[in-house]
Amino acid sequence: MPQSQPLGSGAVRLGGTDALRKMLTDLSSDSRKAIQKLLSEIGSITGEPATHTDPLDLFDAISSQTVGGIYVDVTTTRVQETIHKDAWPKLRPVAGGSGFAYHFWSPTTKQVQRLAVILLKHSADPSDNGIERIKAGYLVTTIHEMTHVAPAKKIYDHPEMNRAAKDLGARQFDDYVEKHCIPSKYWAFPA
Ligand SMILES: [Zn+2]
Repeated sequence: MPQSQPLGSGAVRLGGTDALRKMLTDLSSDSRKAIQKLLSEIGSITGEPATHTDPLDLFDAISSQTVGGIYVDVTTTRVQETIHKDAWPKLRPVAGGSGFAYHFWSPTTKQVQRLAVILLKHSADPSDNGIERIKAGYLVTTIHEMTHVAPAKKIYDHPEMNRAAKDLGARQFDDYVEKHCIPSKYWAFPA
């Protein structure tokens, strides 16, 4: 879904969810399997399975909803006008961070819907490398936020997500995702 917003200085835009979907389709089969393993592990820790453990299947399930969905390039001041009004009652002030996700009851569809918002990031480094680093970060954020709402109704919280990643040998959730899914030159955590 294309979104037009005023350009901020150094803002790195994806231009829509298609760019994110392409990043997921471009993942190697080892990367996809690593995420499937992580989501299965959280499912067994919590006793609440994800609707889909494959990152692309999960992305398609969330982004194809009529009222919920995945939103990219969202600035903190424009969250409310970006998302559907059915999602407003559960919206909390957004101070910053990489994104957020939650379930909400939609009176329009009479269903629980899932929302994941990926907030716009800025790059202090305007080179291609700086921009690619931010885009790689969007992939980690997307997998992180989708995981929060991976079950149909329950939220996976940070302790659950981090415990699963530790069980699989990583420091914490985002560390696991970046080690398995993005090039080492873009890692935020040390090797
Ligand atoms: Zn989180």
